Amino acid sequence: MSSVEELLIKMAKEILGDDVIDVLSLLIKRREEMKDEDIANELNLKINDVRKVLYMLAEQGFVISRRTRDKDTGWYIYFWRANLEQINNIILNRKRAILEKLKLRLEFESSNTFYVCNNDYARYTFDEAFENQFKCPRCGSPLSYYDSEKVKERLRERIEKLEEEIANETKASSN
Ligand SMILES: [Zn+2]
Repeated sequence: MSSVEELLIKMAKEILGDDVIDVLSLLIKRREEMKDEDIANELNLKINDVRKVLYMLAEQGFVISRRTRDKDTGWYIYFWRANLEQINNIILNRKRAILEKLKLRLEFESSNTFYVCNNDYARYTFDEAFENQFKCPRCGSPLSYYDSEKVKERLRERIEKLEEEIANETKASSN
């Protein structure tokens, strides 16, 4: 298996869990379209379970389908294949989503003042601390000012690194 294929499986596992791996691995190995019933036969699975997995995979862009109408029954037949072309877009989209979260986090850190419990290290915003007379609402210990400069610095570093990666990969995929 190539590294792109391994990455696709690893990401599918992370996002959707172990249940989708057999189906995705089979489609990757085959390198051609398969009908859901053929996948079910091959893997000894119930066709409904296979369909459920295929739709989960398709929703996240790991597989794509093409449909044709069966001439005899008039019903649609779906052909499925692994969506290896989309791997870079999937990775990019995930990175963009992470970047958004980090930016929101940094904004939250930057627009709040924090207090921390000396006993259990729970952290509170100024408003929360003020409401509780600067005592920990969990254990009653006094709260002290929390310097979040290091937290913000780490967030800024991660944001910068991600932005760089996204810029490079966007350039690479448009070439
Ligand atoms: Zn406490």
